[in-house]
Amino acid sequence: MSFKPTGKHLIAGKWIGGEATFMSEPAHGPAHEFSVGTVALVDQAAKAAEAAFYGFGYSTRAQRAALLNRIADEIEARAAEITEIGTQETGLPEARLNGERGRTTGQLRLFASHIEKGDYLDRRHDVALPDRTPPRPDIKMMQRPIGPVAVFGASNFPLAFSTAGGDTAAALAAGCPVVVKGHSAHPGTGEIIAQAIDAALKALDMDPGIFSLIQGGKRDVGSSLVQHPLIKAVGFTGSLAGGRALYDLCAQRPEPIPFFGELGSVNPMFLLPEAIKARGEAIAKGWAGSLTMGAGQFCTNPGISVVIDGPEAEAFISASVAALEPTPVQTMLTDGIASAYRAGRDRIAASAGVQELLTSTCDLRNATPYLFVTTGKEWLGNHYLGEEVFGPLGLVVKVGDAEEMLTVARSLQGQLTCTLHLDDGDVELARGLMPILERKAGRVLANGYPTGVEVSEAMVHGGPYPASTNFGATSVGTLSIRRFLRPVSYQNIPDAVLPADLV
Ligand code: NAP
Repeated sequence: MSFKPTGKHLIAGKWIGGEATFMSEPAHGPAHEFSVGTVALVDQAAKAAEAAFYGFGYSTRAQRAALLNRIADEIEARAAEITEIGTQETGLPEARLNGERGRTTGQLRLFASHIEKGDYLDRRHDVALPDRTPPRPDIKMMQRPIGPVAVFGASNFPLAFSTAGGDTAAALAAGCPVVVKGHSAHPGTGEIIAQAIDAALKALDMDPGIFSLIQGGKRDVGSSLVQHPLIKAVGFTGSLAGGRALYDLCAQRPEPIPFFGELGSVNPMFLLPEAIKARGEAIAKGWAGSLTMGAGQFCTNPGISVVIDGPEAEAFISASVAALEPTPVQTMLTDGIASAYRAGRDRIAASAGVQELLTSTCDLRNATPYLFVTTGKEWLGNHYLGEEVFGPLGLVVKVGDAEEMLTVARSLQGQLTCTLHLDDGDVELARGLMPILERKAGRVLANGYPTGVEVSEAMVHGGPYPASTNFGATSVGTLSIRRFLRPVSYQNIPDAVLPADLV
């Protein structure tokens, strides 16, 4: 049976509508009417979250693990309806939505088992030394939840980086109530996921203030949410422009709060000489696949390939054109993203020193890939050539020699990922690049493609600005829980008064 959204917000267990509405703009299927979020609803949700915090922040890890697992079950129970509305709203294929649902429930379950282990608490104990001069007190330390968290998901991951995505999972695991600002590109998907979370909270008889979803429709919902005095941290996945605007609002608050913005990146690949000589064509094919996956709408899309000029570079370019040419037309997520893609393409195409290798199309939301080539010198002189164009657009940067490759690497902005393609004979150049690349990116990878971010213990999905607004953090993997925790020391506190996890 098809899911028919009610168009309401979920505020602390109650479904609330409003007079002002907006219509969803699905890629296909019926449009639905949604209530516009308001500043008053933000206030109501934040107050309910704060009221829930004292109970939820002190709940046992087993209780929170049960909640995370139950949310995963409730999502699976709605699998077919989620896929249907998700594909309609985003234009992403069914297989992608099914895979993303698995990733989302997997993430929730991973956090459940992660908190049960307890390592994330980072418990430390300095035993009292009463005979020392001066005497040392008994000091215990552990990580505590930070308070109510606001979450903004991204259009390109309607499940895994949205309503019950990584930010929500990490915050709930930590013991932080969550207020989600729904994404206007997939409000129906947001609503059905909120229904799953609501059902889980009710089934476990937990405080409904632990979770609220406020649909957007107006930008003041997001800005009032990050400025609300009861909100203590923000998890954001989205564009540099949106992220920066909200980050600035957080910094300007009377009480500034951490804003964990996961933004965009061009994810450069460095193709080293021996690797490109041995398998340039295979690298080109792999690049084309990664560049066009999901119409290039991945924050980890490898938009730039840096290669040393010469016959191997020319062969790589020809192989890339050949691999990209047959790519079928793909639907982009929103009209806004499609028009930003066209604007990015026009900006690059109009640059002196840039040559178009593959002329394609982007009409309405339908796009095929673009490929351009430029020189290291031009790239180094034009900063915007290093900025993200969200979509299937590739740029080959031909550098004169290894030294210029290092200069290009040093000139990069912060990245989510940097990739090396290398063979044994490339080790020396790779050793020269590594210290530069690890300063630029949250993840450095070899002989692969950056799209596809494993949800695991060792994953870092973040990086220096503008890849993220907080280079000490990751938004994917178990380490992401640290964003919503803060260390507290307990000095000479009797066991009877300590939080249970410390006794
Ligand atoms: P977006 O346009 O920035 O939207 C993200 C959310 O922020 C939406 O809820 C949006 O509200 C809200 N928002 C944006 N600007 C705002 C403002 N000035 N004031 C208040 N609210 C504001 O991003 P998107 O188009 O969904 O996502 C695409 C971008 O996300 C790409 O750049 C991609 O690289 C990046 N991304 C990054 C990651 C990562 O992990 N680093 C993952 C996926 C995507 P509305 O609903 O009203 O638009």
